[in-house]
Amino acid sequence: MSFKIDALDRLVEHLSRLPGLGEKTAQRLAFHILKTKDEAISQLSQALVDVKAQVHDCPVCFNYTDRELCAVCDDANRDGHLLCVVEDAGDILRIEAAMSFKGRYHVLQGVLSPLDGVGPDQIRLVELLNRVENEGVREVVLALDADLEGDATSLYLTKTLKGRVGDIKVTRIAHGVPIGGNLEYVDHRTLSRALENRVEL
Ligand code: ZN
Repeated sequence: MSFKIDALDRLVEHLSRLPGLGEKTAQRLAFHILKTKDEAISQLSQALVDVKAQVHDCPVCFNYTDRELCAVCDDANRDGHLLCVVEDAGDILRIEAAMSFKGRYHVLQGVLSPLDGVGPDQIRLVELLNRVENEGVREVVLALDADLEGDATSLYLTKTLKGRVGDIKVTRIAHGVPIGGNLEYVDHRTLSRALENRVEL
């Protein structure tokens, strides 16, 4: 649907391309922007320009940073023997919020998905193998989603890592039953994964 007002239609079109925003939400946002004070909109548009100009991938782990290295790679107190592999940089925030992991990270920038044309060359796999070989990594912790792509990628990484570095330990975080979760309401995949990853008490 078009307002026949070029600038407004253009804004709705751009907003509706953002993930999670349908056309209706994009229209609501566009109206909100029209009602917002000029100063706040200038700040918003400057923030968009700044984030693209100043934020880039960390050349070591592919986390986001506005410095030469990201905050984790730049932290000498991190355990370099332990490397946690995640799909995207947002996952690092979630794991860091749990405050229990003291190793380093590697962002794959995707997971294997043959149907979408994402193969090993489209994710940061070569960089991962190089790091494991050159940084004295002893354990790789795979923290990928427990869905089809996450499972396939974890399997592929395990085989490739063990093929390349003989004595490397590869683990995967347990995707288990939430604390207090009633097993009756847990789906089968989650439950079987929780059982597979059971720990001895
Ligand atoms: Zn980094």
